[in-house]
Amino acid sequence: MTQVRTRIAPSPTGDPHVGTAYIALFNRCFARQHGGKFILRIEDTDQMRSTAQSEHDILSSLQWLGLEWDEGPGVGGDFGPYRQSERSAIYAEHIATLLESGNAFHCFCSAERLDEVRKTQMAAKQQPGYDGHCAHLSKAEVDTKLAASEDYVIRMRVPETGNCEFHDMLRGEVSIAWSQIDMQVLMKSDGLPTYHFANVVDDHLMEITHVVRGEEWINSVPKHVLLYKYFDWTPPIFCHMPLLRNPDKSKLSKRKNPTSINYYRDMGYLPEALINYLGMMGWTMPNGQEVFTLSEMEDAFDISRVSLGGPVFDTEKLDWLNGKYLREAGSDKDFQERLLAWAQDSGRLAPIIPLLRQRVEKFSDVAPLISYFFSGSVAITPESFSHCKLAPADACKALQFALWKLEALSVWSREEVESTLMTLSQALDIKVRDFLAPLFVAISGQPVSLSVIDSIAVIGLDLSRARLRAAIEVLGGISKKQAKNLEKEFAQLG
Ligand code: GLU
Repeated sequence: MTQVRTRIAPSPTGDPHVGTAYIALFNRCFARQHGGKFILRIEDTDQMRSTAQSEHDILSSLQWLGLEWDEGPGVGGDFGPYRQSERSAIYAEHIATLLESGNAFHCFCSAERLDEVRKTQMAAKQQPGYDGHCAHLSKAEVDTKLAASEDYVIRMRVPETGNCEFHDMLRGEVSIAWSQIDMQVLMKSDGLPTYHFANVVDDHLMEITHVVRGEEWINSVPKHVLLYKYFDWTPPIFCHMPLLRNPDKSKLSKRKNPTSINYYRDMGYLPEALINYLGMMGWTMPNGQEVFTLSEMEDAFDISRVSLGGPVFDTEKLDWLNGKYLREAGSDKDFQERLLAWAQDSGRLAPIIPLLRQRVEKFSDVAPLISYFFSGSVAITPESFSHCKLAPADACKALQFALWKLEALSVWSREEVESTLMTLSQALDIKVRDFLAPLFVAISGQPVSLSVIDSIAVIGLDLSRARLRAAIEVLGGISKKQAKNLEKEFAQLG
């Protein structure tokens, strides 16, 4: 019997997401249950958005959670390289096969033309997609364009009629009409593969037997199945897990809930509690046990117990579970050791030491000054802002704009935080001191604190976001209508 091989294939384009850990957990349990292997592959073909920092954070957060992989970056294995950016030659070779068999074609359409096509389709209420303009160019036409060095992408051919039928382990038979499926770009003009192409080639070459991933990918399966057919390969077994949801049942998003694993680590959740909680997302232990370890879950795992009703990632429930671990697991001494390790490892102490030293006369001055670095929310009331020059509505606006600007930062550093906030206060024509005053309160809960810019840089985007939002609410909130106007105004700021 072939060995079960599963994988997690994150794209290193942002903070390490709890959804990635969730899917990794289920892939690992499935592999373990079958005595198989769990592989980690980095899907970094989007060179504009992939960063080394994000890759590092994803790997270290999975390790922190105890979700080590059997093959992948840092571990090696017989099917490497495990980073797609190091596999270009493999993709080039495979795209040549598809061009030769006629299952893929060169497309020379300009971005402007594609835009026009899309607009016309939208206006006619048609499904937007490539119109096949280059699908039937003759070999001579293609050669002439190539000789003239015209830019091109490579697209796959897709049947025009009929349905794609496939089996999903949790959903049974799925049928999607081919008319819904676009002639997907497989290779971009820069010679790099797209997700769909690289993902299929790698899953095959890495001998992945079961593709267990989030349900947002289910509509991509026809493209994948078709590629397997074009290559004459056997597709893996697909299993699309339910998406994690906010308590209001919308898709889990950082707009409503912190989604970065870094945030949960920095807030002092225990990795074993977070893993336990993720294990409860759409899954239950056969004996109904709520508190369980990773190895207990692996031992009892059965994927058919996954229920498709959207599992709610509710931080209140997580708090309850984490509290249970803190109270009941380990001794007082363990608690003390882990607390101290957390305070040191969370990376919040080191950067604030230089600021602290300037402000204190004895160690006992330290705790009150820095407590807000180690808390989740800070206690504020409308009166906390009474010394601010900005009226509540203007303060709300300043806080919201600051949040949007911070969210748009691609690099998170003290310098970036500072320059973005300074530029914003200028653009709003508000004196820096007046602009920063409500931020001070929102972030630290106090009228004066260590530098607010340093504080934001140290506590990170997730916690800053939560506190800025809470402050906006305390100041009266922003209605849907106001939000629309603010968005317009913000867009004009440039
Ligand atoms: N790179 C994709 C992601 O970031 C992988 C999806 C899949 O598992 O096929 O989620």
